[in-house]
Amino acid sequence: MEEIKEEEREQAKEKDLPSFDDIDLSLLHPRERARLERSFEAQHMSHDQKERLSRITEVRFDEAMREYTGFGVGGAVEALVTVKHVKGLKAVMEFAHDSGVSYLFLGKGRNLLVRDGGMLGMVIRFGGEFCRCEMMRTSDEQAKVSVHAGVELKEFARFAEAFHLSGYERFVNLPGTVAGALQSGHSLRHLSLEHKVEEITVLNAQQKEITLQGKSLRFEGGKLKLPRTTPILRVLLKIAIQKSDEHHEERKLYPEGDVFSIAPFADPEKVEARQLIADAGLQGVRVGSARVSTLHPDFILNEGDATARDLLVLVGLVKDRVKQSSGVALEQKMIVVGNDKQR
Ligand SMILES: Cc1cc2nc3c(=O)[nH]c(=O)nc-3n(C[C@H](O)[C@H](O)[C@H](O)COP(=O)(O)OP(=O)(O)OC[C@H]3O[C@@H](n4cnc5c(N)ncnc54)[C@H](O)[C@@H]3O)c2cc1C
Repeated sequence: MEEIKEEEREQAKEKDLPSFDDIDLSLLHPRERARLERSFEAQHMSHDQKERLSRITEVRFDEAMREYTGFGVGGAVEALVTVKHVKGLKAVMEFAHDSGVSYLFLGKGRNLLVRDGGMLGMVIRFGGEFCRCEMMRTSDEQAKVSVHAGVELKEFARFAEAFHLSGYERFVNLPGTVAGALQSGHSLRHLSLEHKVEEITVLNAQQKEITLQGKSLRFEGGKLKLPRTTPILRVLLKIAIQKSDEHHEERKLYPEGDVFSIAPFADPEKVEARQLIADAGLQGVRVGSARVSTLHPDFILNEGDATARDLLVLVGLVKDRVKQSSGVALEQKMIVVGNDKQR
């Protein structure tokens, strides 16, 4: 694993990871959002750009995102790219920078909503060599595991169990990838990734691998503060070695049978979102085919043909009602991208 010198790391922080201010457009007034979106107006990819992209990577054009996201909705992305090794990712990033094509990384899409009109640019997902866990170093008490970008939380949990590494048993029932979880910031009581990260390796704007030490990383509410344009290549997690009696059987991820679902809200500091939603009497409330789960009120279910718009309207309604009943402003954790209408 490449280590970088202190000086280089400081430069990297200044040059490549400069502003940690993510704009969540979904939180803005619609008029303000439209103004901002116009100012970042993305262009369709040209025929030549598409040809060049096809030569350097595996790509599907105009691919419906509902196949790749947890809530099962979302219009088509212009180019769905799968990268299988770091060299391939570097080539795709180089293409993006040269051509000005926008891009977004995708794990399992469990915390991501693509609007119904789809999106321009590339969605980049990780396969092949990115789906590995590697044991890096062990002492008698501690192990370090390198978890690459495409590894799911449940796969990591199984890997840890096979090596008698304790503390991650409950991950077997969590949706999504390790990299996606760091960018999303969920935590369970006494269990979050924030304090387990030893290092994160990313690609900087010059396509150079940079290793950021755990101590230098910034988290806010368990969410890693890293620009969305920076790909996480792998995460080094430290784990205690001890035989654990805890064993969690894998169970269905979806709370009410085999339906698509999403948990859009962050838990406020002292109370759980699910409690506030239940107290506001919102279980079972629906907009179109999007419905607040009765069993797990922090989940919204897609009853079959929900749209992204149904979900967004329901999320707004839940926020308003919770604010009215408890005074708490629920924070939306779900990441929203794309356009309302097809372009
Ligand atoms: C302790 C703990 C508790 C959890 N509890 C819950 C829960 O209660 N409910 C629930 O729904 N989920 C829970 N999760 C799961 C988790 O928080 C996320 O929902 C999930 O991991 C998202 O992963 P994903 O692969 O689906 O990411 P996606 O939804 O695909 O992406 C999420 C974000 O990460 C970015 N991203 C993904 N991969 C990369 C990469 N390699 N480089 C850069 N950016 C990337 C995406 O661009 C996007 O911005 C929990 C996770 C943990 C660790």
